[in-house]
Amino acid sequence: MDGKKLEYKGEEALKEIERLTAKAGRVQLDILKEILTRNSKTEYLSKYMKGSKDVSDFKQRVPVITYKAIQPYIKRITNGEDSSLITGHPITEILCSSGTSGREPKMMPSIAEDLDRRTFLYNLIMPIMNQYVPGLDEGKAMLLYFVKAETSTPCGLPARTVLTSYYKSRHFKCRSPDPFNNCTSPDQTILCNDSNQSMYCQLLSGIVHRHQVLRLGAVFASAFLRALSFLERNWINFCNDIRSGQLDPLITDPECRSSMAPLISVPNPSLADEINEICSLPSWKGILCQLWPKAKYIEAVVTGSMAQYIPALEYYSDGKLPLVCTMYASSECYFGVNLKPLSDPADVSFTLLPNMGYFEFIPLGENGTRLMNIDDDEEVRNDKLVDLVQLSLGCYYELVVTTFAGLYRHRVGDVLQVTGFHNKAPQFRFICRRNVVLSIDTDKTNEEDLHKSVSVAKKLLEPFDALLVEYTSHADTSRLPGHYVMYWEIIYHGSMVDATAPLDDKVMQECCIAVEEELDYIYRRCRAYDKSVGPLEIRVVEPGSFDALMDYFISQGGSINQYKTPRCIKSNKALKLLDSNVKACFFSPRDPKWIP
Ligand code: AMP
Repeated sequence: MDGKKLEYKGEEALKEIERLTAKAGRVQLDILKEILTRNSKTEYLSKYMKGSKDVSDFKQRVPVITYKAIQPYIKRITNGEDSSLITGHPITEILCSSGTSGREPKMMPSIAEDLDRRTFLYNLIMPIMNQYVPGLDEGKAMLLYFVKAETSTPCGLPARTVLTSYYKSRHFKCRSPDPFNNCTSPDQTILCNDSNQSMYCQLLSGIVHRHQVLRLGAVFASAFLRALSFLERNWINFCNDIRSGQLDPLITDPECRSSMAPLISVPNPSLADEINEICSLPSWKGILCQLWPKAKYIEAVVTGSMAQYIPALEYYSDGKLPLVCTMYASSECYFGVNLKPLSDPADVSFTLLPNMGYFEFIPLGENGTRLMNIDDDEEVRNDKLVDLVQLSLGCYYELVVTTFAGLYRHRVGDVLQVTGFHNKAPQFRFICRRNVVLSIDTDKTNEEDLHKSVSVAKKLLEPFDALLVEYTSHADTSRLPGHYVMYWEIIYHGSMVDATAPLDDKVMQECCIAVEEELDYIYRRCRAYDKSVGPLEIRVVEPGSFDALMDYFISQGGSINQYKTPRCIKSNKALKLLDSNVKACFFSPRDPKWIP
């Protein structure tokens, strides 16, 4: 890769950012040429390029695709065919991304050197941070990281999330000591497959080091808040462990036990008293600053769908800790970094690093007018795409990526707005993921999957002569863990008037679980394994509620001719309206099935 060296630290890392961004166009062209050269003999590229390695041939002939088009190739590889179907390098692992295609999780190819690229980006974060918050090398970081269960493909390739891949790699495990990344969590606690034991040990370790901790965080805001609710449930146990100098016997993982032993083997009653006093306070407002008095900021993704957690983070920090969102990345490629990490979450922009992959953009207009009109299956003409150097300030684009690992002009599905340029490299505000209607944690449910799930569940009403006539949904994160709420309007015996015959609770609960069983793999993992999403709720509303909803939206300027019931609602007023019409609420009685 351009910048093969991984260990850019301090000034050198900042210089490398300047170097790369100053000649962003050149770096991009070189990356594309390199990909075309290295992968020219692959079945996929040969089909379109007929042996050519020419950039203009690539632009004319290689189609812009969604995952669906590459899925058959990836499937063949996971079933044992050669990586050369799509890439000139051996595919070393499959990264499970948080999207679905035809109800299956998306699987992204990855090659060994992708880990170098990801490490390169991670290594830029602290030098950037150090410019704004000095002294971060004089203490510790309580960063809560977790691995997720992994499987293997029929041909034996590991299939796991991109973060799990990184934590299990030698790039992470054998990293050289760095005072800027002196973390409270022993690696063994991060690598523990049991998320409860992992969480317990990582939080306990963070608490033991409370006076040295300079920054707090997790990858996603949702995970950090989950840790806080775990703390609420477990702080008494932490106090006991600290007071007695003995780790709770419920922690059975031998690696966790041995890595935690040096931290708590000496009884420390005064620390236990301190924790007891702080955690017994009637309000946990600002608790983070009490528990970790030297913390200077919270690090977590708080952009995109994670923005819904900003108020909760501000509550627990009493608004005293800046929320820092350092990077923008995906399973297919890591994209960029935030060069102004202390900016307000609403103003966060990511600077695209031009050496991570080859980037192109689908223009969506100056005010995102095409935003709503472009869908997954719409064919995007090749000549519509623009390069990184052709982007216009203020305009909206969908990101398209070409990688060494075998994705060519692949639509990532993210909508970005250009907010500026750092040297020649564009900077973006993350607007949204196209099509995603509901998201609590790493789950991302699109309208199509939601609709399919509802279509299956509503069949359960038929034997009772009841009919689902309208529905919408909402991601409720007012309590932790957040959960999906569905509003259902049901008519009985074909009558809007005689709506008095309520269905048996059991039937409605079955509907809840039926929706969940049909939702995608990541949703079901969040529910059944990570426990980061709570049981789905159906709120049955009075007949006519959806007419009232339509009236409301039209009163807000919507067009009566074009009105379609929104399948997800964020407006507080609209939610209030529906909530005032709720007749009964039902929750899923159990976890949906999930097999790793
Ligand atoms: P995955 O492929 O499952 O790793 O998910 C990657 C997606 O997560 C990206 O395409 C974005 O939609 C979203 N994402 C990643 N980083 C950020 C960020 N900093 N802000 C908002 N969304 C993000």
